[in-house]
Amino acid sequence: MPELPEVEAYGRRIKDGALHRTIETVTLGNDTKHVELPGPEDRARFEGHQFTEVRRHGKYLFAGSATGPWMALHMGMAGSVRVYDAEDGNPDYARLIVAFEGSRRMAFRDPRKFGWVKYVDTPETEIEARELGPDALDLDADGFANRLEGGRGAIKSALMDQSRLAGIGNLWADETLYQTGIHPATKIPELSRDDISGLHKASDRILRGVCDVDAHYRELPDAWLIHRREEGYACTRCDGSIARIKVGGRSSYFCPKHQVEAA
Ligand SMILES: [Zn+2]
Repeated sequence: MPELPEVEAYGRRIKDGALHRTIETVTLGNDTKHVELPGPEDRARFEGHQFTEVRRHGKYLFAGSATGPWMALHMGMAGSVRVYDAEDGNPDYARLIVAFEGSRRMAFRDPRKFGWVKYVDTPETEIEARELGPDALDLDADGFANRLEGGRGAIKSALMDQSRLAGIGNLWADETLYQTGIHPATKIPELSRDDISGLHKASDRILRGVCDVDAHYRELPDAWLIHRREEGYACTRCDGSIARIKVGGRSSYFCPKHQVEAA
């Protein structure tokens, strides 16, 4: 599921190839039944306008301009954005296609159909309506600690709670906990100030690291958990091996030897 760094990479594709071009049409792609997409009236509202900026908040992407309109995109389980030229043909699973003047196109692809696209007045109204917390990369150490304050549940669930901080999902929560040596089921009150500040440093470093390589996982350091999300794989931080448990209903990969629950 695309999280902060993956969505950042999709935003970059728009920035690199689809800004400052007049939109001619916004049309539905293939097999759009059960996909939440803008209706004909909302699609028409984009015509004649340009995207002049792209913003990302957590896992949400917004393309628009100071005077609007804005297109909000959420990738769901497996959505993505493709920018290409008409002569290359539309990508498979294209659910929405923006045609710019000339041959440039932008498609919202979504094989699993859990993502959506909609017309919004401003990114702010959408962020507020969804009650999203601050973007994970906008938080300093104190801000990060404040967002976890008062939590009684498992740290992994809190890291993934988009109303506390926006952008971290299953993959990068597991990575953050693995690299800080904290068991995913650890209850927040059991964490020390040092634990929390360590989590902030690690999540910040990890998310930026994945953004830096445009979410191409093969370019990430060998020692990261991302390369060994399988039960029984050797841990790179100790002589333990990777195990899987459910935390808050989600599969969590971790090393039971160096990620121990506080006594
Ligand atoms: Zn280990």
